This record gives sequence, structure tokens and C-alpha cells, in this order.
Amino acid sequence: MNEYALVAVLLALLGGLVVGKAWERYKLRDGRWIDRRRLRETPHYMLGLNFLVDNQTDQAIDELTQAASSSTDALEIQMILGNLYRQKGQVGRAINVHQALLQRPDLRPLEQAYVLLCLGLDFRHAGFVDRALEAFEEVLRLDAQNRYAFVNLQKLYEDQQQWTEAARVREQIAKIDSPHREEHLQILGFLRNEIGSAQARTGDVAAATRSYQDAIDVDARTIPAHLNLGDSRLQQGQIQAAIEAWETLVRTLPDRAYLAFERLERAYRTLGAPGRFVDLCERHIARSPQDWRARLALSRHFAVAGQYRQALELLFEALPHNPHGLVIHQEVWQALSALSLEPALVRRYVALAREAVFYLDPHVCVRCRYRSTELLWQCPQCHEWNTFVEERIAPAKDTVVAEMSES
Ligand SMILES: [Zn+2]
Repeated sequence: MNEYALVAVLLALLGGLVVGKAWERYKLRDGRWIDRRRLRETPHYMLGLNFLVDNQTDQAIDELTQAASSSTDALEIQMILGNLYRQKGQVGRAINVHQALLQRPDLRPLEQAYVLLCLGLDFRHAGFVDRALEAFEEVLRLDAQNRYAFVNLQKLYEDQQQWTEAARVREQIAKIDSPHREEHLQILGFLRNEIGSAQARTGDVAAATRSYQDAIDVDARTIPAHLNLGDSRLQQGQIQAAIEAWETLVRTLPDRAYLAFERLERAYRTLGAPGRFVDLCERHIARSPQDWRARLALSRHFAVAGQYRQALELLFEALPHNPHGLVIHQEVWQALSALSLEPALVRRYVALAREAVFYLDPHVCVRCRYRSTELLWQCPQCHEWNTFVEERIAPAKDTVVAEMSES
């Protein structure tokens, strides 16, 4: 939410600059010579802007309110004030300020568009979805290229899980920018995947399958679409085609290959060819030597077949890459006890665990630093798509030392 507030303030500033310029021309053209230098002569205006940049909302509100009282028709100041109220959670007040601005008889279309945009943000913040939609659509009628209005429309539709509408809006944004920019393709890929999931929930597997394929065609890095494509093909009885979808994921997006391991293991088994899973994992480990999940998956595969020594070797290899993973330790103990706690093996395990480097909160949003113990495709905090990476943190004791030396 914080990030949105910041974007809104920056947007307001930007809007203020643009509107300010237009407004200055307007005043001159109409011959109503209002001396805008007077505004700059009061210290409140500059102070207010400085507090704004410094994120000191309350002080910014105080100073800008005083500046506005000496020049009551300063549109941009009122607009910013309204946005600051919204940022502070006083949405009712923000709505009042922005609605009052809309009542001004001499607003030009561009000015009206910016005020409406602010009002739309107020409504969205307050949870008035329909009124927010209306406001953003009105902005676009006044200013057909308004990227911020499009972006907010998309997010509103996403909030309502109206994925088709969200995708349509994103396509329009892509048209304004350059359509092949990675960002657009990535978002469209995820939105098409969501369209497919919605279709799958209503039981239309064929349509869902097409949507997942669309998602991959738009952006081959849409990981959940690969998984879902395989699932829906399997549901339609096409096990070979399902395996193909999952193998493509393992091959093309090795970092997330593990998401397909369980599915592939089961499918190969169903086909009576469990050896294919061993081959797949070994090929994958050779390409991605730090992948502990492939080793874990393969060790389970061996353990199920009673090959505990092979299983244990893989777990010992996996451990240094993710010593924090409780699941590895559990599997190690199962294998060890199946091997009657052979002393040499127990000693190796203890030594490995002692040297281990630890991980914490593995998934972090690269946009807003939101932390999650599980992998998420859309960040619950900043609502961006596919922003999570696995973070590796220094050993716990080093972190403590670093923090202590900082303070
Ligand atoms: Zn985020």
C-alpha cells in the first residue's frame, strides 16, 4: 500500500506540474493576471513541497494548507492536499477536496482529467469499486493516452478477478508504450493464465487449455501456465501431451523446474517408465548444480523403491544448498533409520549440518521486499506479477554481527 501512496503523491506532483503549466497559460490567455509568483513568495509552498519529498505528510499538509489559503484557486495544491489526506487514510476528506475541485466552472479537460484521476484513486482506496471504475473511464474519455488511468483500471479489474477485462486494459497500455516490452508480455501471460484458471473452475477444460497455451505463447516464462496446461491435458486423458508441457517447464525455466517434479514422477510411473524420472532429474542436476529440490525429489524416488543409500547420498548433496529445509532433515532421518543408523553415515550427516549456512524467509518480492514463505505469482502488497525471488541470507551469526556493527 505504501508504494501506491508514494506513486500517487509522485503522480500528483507530476500532475501538478503539468496542470500548473497549462493553468499558467490559461490565466495569461484569459487575461486574468493572477500573480503566481506570489505563491512562490510564501515560504509555505516550498516548505510544503520539501516536506512532501521528505515523506513528512503532516507537515506537508500544514504548509500546503497555508499556501493554499493565500491563493485559493491554486488547483495543484488542492489536488496534492487531497492526495495527502488519502495517503493518511482520511479518504472521505480526500474525496471532498477532489469533488470540490471538479465543481470549478473553468476547469479545462486536462485539469479535469487529473482531478478525476485523483478522485478515482480515492474511490479505489475507499473500496467504492464502481465509482472508481467510472472515474478512471471518464479520465480516459478526456485523455485517451492516460497511462495511470489504464494501470489503475487494470488493478481494479484484477481486484474483482475480472481477468479478461484486465487483460484488455493491459493490451491498451502496451499499445501506448511499445507492445513488445517484456513487462507487458509478462503481465499478459499471467492474466491469460488466470483467465484459463477461471475457465477451468467453471468446468470448461478445453477453453482453459487454450487460454494456458495463449499465456505461454504471449510469454513462455509464464510458469503456472505450463503447470496448468499439463494438468488440463491430463484431465483430458492426454498424458503424453501433459508430460510434454511439464518437461518444457523443466527445460526452459530450470529455477522453477521443481514445481513439475511431482507431476512428472507420477505421470512417468503411470506410463510404466519410472526410469525417465531418474534421467530427467540427473540431466537437470547436471545443468543446475545447486538445485536441492531435484535431489530431494530424486531421493524420494529412490527411497520409495527401497534404495536408501542412493537416497541418502542425494540428500547429503542437497543439504549444503538448503540446510534450513526441515524436509531434507526428515528424509535424512528416515533413510538413516532404514539403514539402521549406520555410524559412519550418521557422522557424515552431523558434520554436514554443522557446516551449514542458513536461509531465512526464502521468497522476497524484488519490488517491495514483501516476504513470503511460499512462492507467490502476484505480490499481495504491491500487486505486481512474478516479482518473487529466493533470497539467500548470510549465516545467522554473521547477520547478528552486521546488525550490531551498524548500530
Ligand atoms: Zn511486492
